[in-house]
Amino acid sequence: MSALGEYRAAGEIRQGAGAALAALKARAAEWDLELHEADGLLTLLLWGGELTCAVSPAGARMAIRAPERRLVQVIRDALAELLAAEGVAVAWDAVEEGALAPGLALMRVVSVRARSPGFLRVRLRGEEAARFATGGLHFRLLLPPRGRAPVWPRIAATGRTVWPEGRDALHRPVYTLAGQAGDWLEFDIFRHAGSPTCHWAASTGPGDTVGVIGPGGGWLPEADRLMLLGDATALPAIARMLALTDRPARAVLQVAAEDMGSLAADPRVTRTDDLTAALEAAQIAPGTHVWFAGHEDAARRARAHLAGRGMGKRDFTAAAYWS
Ligand SMILES: Cc1cc2nc3c(=O)[nH]c(=O)nc-3n(C[C@H](O)[C@H](O)[C@H](O)COP(=O)(O)OP(=O)(O)OC[C@H]3O[C@@H](n4cnc5c(N)ncnc54)[C@H](O)[C@@H]3O)c2cc1C
Repeated sequence: MSALGEYRAAGEIRQGAGAALAALKARAAEWDLELHEADGLLTLLLWGGELTCAVSPAGARMAIRAPERRLVQVIRDALAELLAAEGVAVAWDAVEEGALAPGLALMRVVSVRARSPGFLRVRLRGEEAARFATGGLHFRLLLPPRGRAPVWPRIAATGRTVWPEGRDALHRPVYTLAGQAGDWLEFDIFRHAGSPTCHWAASTGPGDTVGVIGPGGGWLPEADRLMLLGDATALPAIARMLALTDRPARAVLQVAAEDMGSLAADPRVTRTDDLTAALEAAQIAPGTHVWFAGHEDAARRARAHLAGRGMGKRDFTAAAYWS
């Protein structure tokens, strides 16, 4: 069996197959997804998985294949959302009703300590910890409202993942893995005012349960050389990418000197007080992928600047890490 086919789901569309097909094609065009169509079979490649739609007079047979169980569910959720807008539903052959959302691990807090004046380091323990060290640099923390019993996202009878809403809605900030070994993982929280995550970190203690879902959000950009620029929220991502790469790399960080940690001694890294100016002044050698992350306004400016330099869309990343 191919790696792509390890995990599967299949189901029928009994009404609205035509509308489903049209919606899939429109989405493929909108998201620039690879699409093949032959002999009544539509095949869409997305997120490392595959979605097929075989139309027949009786309706359509939908099938998902992916290398990970959680990817099957992610594709199934995206499909359900797309088709719901057309009033179309898939009757799945089998559904793990009541199971935790794919990719969700419930982990225990081991410790929260000050890594530096501006950062807290959190260590979590759980048997799925190692899964978060590959395939994506980031994950979402799922923090239930304070004082309420947690309600975790689970798979419903329809095959869709149902997320708690209203008073049970979860806070879902994105963080970056900072370290992992055995059954633990660590991440660093940049301390700032008005942060529910910082409040959680200040009030949690060993043994508390927290949800961690992922990993996701990309890996090292593919290029001969890397230029990485970011503010404090991007420091963990830049540190991780520098640790993972053996390609020529340079990094510029807009963080307080006392928060640089081990990056202060890394000759590839410099500190700045103005990330945008640093980007605008940077010499960018051919073959470089420029990666920029910070406040959404800074990311927007970076995107415009890099496009204005004539860089292609695939040659840079400009990500809003906070707003
Ligand atoms: C892919 C990705 C990876 C990330 N990795 C990390 C990481 O490893 N460590 C980390 O600390 N952050 C990281 N971030 C940023 C983090 O997700 C945001 O800062 C997020 O807003 C934190 O959630 P919160 O509970 O503090 O705040 P929210 O509820 O989102 O926001 C609360 C308030 O805090 C403000 N705020 C948010 N971030 C900042 C900030 N940096 N400075 C000042 N005010 C702020 C908001 O404007 C808002 O007013 C990452 C973001 C992305 C997209």
